[in-house]
Amino acid sequence: MAAIARAAFGVQHLAKGVSRLSNVVLAKGRGSYVWTTEGRKLLDFTSGIGVVNLGHCHPRVTQAAQSQLATLVHGQVAIAMHEPMLSLIEHLKPVMPDPSLDTFFFWNSGAEAVEAALKLARAATGRQNIVVMQGSYHGRTIGTMSMTRSKTIYGAGFGPFMPGVFTSPFPYCTQCAVANASDGKLGFSNCCMDPLHELKVLLKQQSAAADTAAIIIEPVLGEGGYVVPPDGFLSEVRKLCDEHGILLILDEVQSGFGRTGKYFAAEHWRVRPDIMVMAKGIANGLPLSGIVSRKELMDRQTPGSMGGTYAGNAVACAAGVACAQVMREERVLENVEERYVWISLVSTGIALKGLGSFRRSEQLFDALEELKASPTAGHLIKDVRGLGLMIGLEFNSPSFPTVTPVDDVPKGIAARVQAKCLENNLLTLTTSIYETIRFIPPLTVSEEEMKLGCDIFTRAVEDVAR
Ligand code: PMP
Repeated sequence: MAAIARAAFGVQHLAKGVSRLSNVVLAKGRGSYVWTTEGRKLLDFTSGIGVVNLGHCHPRVTQAAQSQLATLVHGQVAIAMHEPMLSLIEHLKPVMPDPSLDTFFFWNSGAEAVEAALKLARAATGRQNIVVMQGSYHGRTIGTMSMTRSKTIYGAGFGPFMPGVFTSPFPYCTQCAVANASDGKLGFSNCCMDPLHELKVLLKQQSAAADTAAIIIEPVLGEGGYVVPPDGFLSEVRKLCDEHGILLILDEVQSGFGRTGKYFAAEHWRVRPDIMVMAKGIANGLPLSGIVSRKELMDRQTPGSMGGTYAGNAVACAAGVACAQVMREERVLENVEERYVWISLVSTGIALKGLGSFRRSEQLFDALEELKASPTAGHLIKDVRGLGLMIGLEFNSPSFPTVTPVDDVPKGIAARVQAKCLENNLLTLTTSIYETIRFIPPLTVSEEEMKLGCDIFTRAVEDVAR
């Protein structure tokens, strides 16, 4: 009863502008689980939208933050440097996707860091325009809303927006009419390099290269549907940027810090960004974000033009250091992607023993592919895609568009499956304007937890199929 009253209090006094998956009230979180004030235990396959990559309240991160809280909370960056920030740079530098990325600065949220990347691109090139990808999400400030193309709800009614933003298509093959029409099969067929052509056309017809400061891309489209570009796309964009002196900004806010099975998604294609944006998994829940670039670019900004009251907070930076240590020492990426092969020394000599797959990514893919192939529910599923533990499952949506102009949250099959999962204590998220569920469990999720989550999800889809 008390819990219901508490929820009602929240509904009454919290702003309506926030859409919520549920009205449960959270009391605590540990590892892959959160508990409500009523004591309900929920398996969290959202990680708070890709934030608690190391699980809720990882003890080493908690310990680092607590200890910093008792040492120095606020070290204003315009007054002095502080030790946790320097230590964070030391820990991040070796895991950057390219050694040229050697100069950092930090803020609180992803949107702030995206804005900082844009300011840097403008300052460094002396050009104004920016090219964004269709389906992209970069934040909720006026500047980042101007650059967001995943759902109109984020910007509706808030304009006018920043001028000088141009939109180019992202290779989203399951929605590509050419691929769908040509052979009825989905996948990266002949349509996929069209986005590159469109980008080149854009630079000829709409935003002259000489006016274009940067192209900003999420290496794996996040809020736009968990879409992985075909091999070659990002490197071709890189080449185009080099030809025209345009900077490439990779927004790794959602795809970074191990989410795709590599430290940063850029590594899958060995693409070097000029500027990279980081947030979410950087500090496992403490508010921290940052950009990194090469010193020569970063130094083109006038002293005083960057900063912020809470920029790179000391407690958040200390948590970030602990995250980097945990990632390395607890071999978190291996839990996502790598197979363990045990070499056992037996009396007869050396035997190589494969102990099967321990990859959580493969386990999740296998379960979703099995569901897609199943006679009971397979017909509902259009596509399973992703990298590491950033996996999207798109349903067939014959009734598309399932959205209304005033409220473009999906009301169709994805939302129904999501609700069924919640009834059975599994938290999942939808993504994009298409009927898509995204899976973003903590990277530390265990085999048993993954199995439980997959079972609940499978039953939810089968229920909806009935
Ligand atoms: N960029 C990307 C790719 C994101 O996924 C997000 C958040 N979902 C942001 C930027 C904005 O981050 P924040 O909500 O911390 O401002």
